[in-house]
Amino acid sequence: MKKNKEHAALYPGSFDPITLGHLDIIRRAAKMFDRIIVGVLINQEKKALFSPEERATMIREATQDIPNVEVITFSGLTVDCCKELGVGTMLRGLRAVTDFEYELQIAQTNHAMDPDVDTVFLTTDLRYAYLSSSVVREVATYGGPIEQFVPENVIPRVREKYRR
Ligand code: ADP
Repeated sequence: MKKNKEHAALYPGSFDPITLGHLDIIRRAAKMFDRIIVGVLINQEKKALFSPEERATMIREATQDIPNVEVITFSGLTVDCCKELGVGTMLRGLRAVTDFEYELQIAQTNHAMDPDVDTVFLTTDLRYAYLSSSVVREVATYGGPIEQFVPENVIPRVREKYRR
């Protein structure tokens, strides 16, 4: 059967900073979709360690070997971003049941706002089930080792932020 429609997915999040858990989701999803657009959310209210542009740059570096991945920054509603991009699928990762309730609510809200948008979930690789950007920031605050948590290019950037 001839495939005539490109299947793209938007992977939205804070990525402050990107972790190996995020990267694993991106790698696996890149095999399932023609295009993955990683969307760094510009959230004025949430105090972030890295600026949206810094976060996007780190994601671009970490995914440069995956040809069908691109990175953007966006603000406002994720469903509006989907509409602008002409993308009908949102991608999210699930670590544990604690993620489930929150993610289900967001996915249903988004679908209620725009029935053309559906959310697809990938479950985390067990190696990264405990991992979050906040864990990385917490460990780095106290000078702990972050090598097993983030892509190599991210390590010096995080260290730099906490250098006194
Ligand atoms: P948000 O601030 O919107 O929660 P995050 O940057 O923390 O954004 O995460 C973006 C997405 O990646 C979310 O769906 C989250 O559940 C998923 N995610 C985060 N960490 C991991 C991980 N270790 N394994 C799999 N998915 C993850």
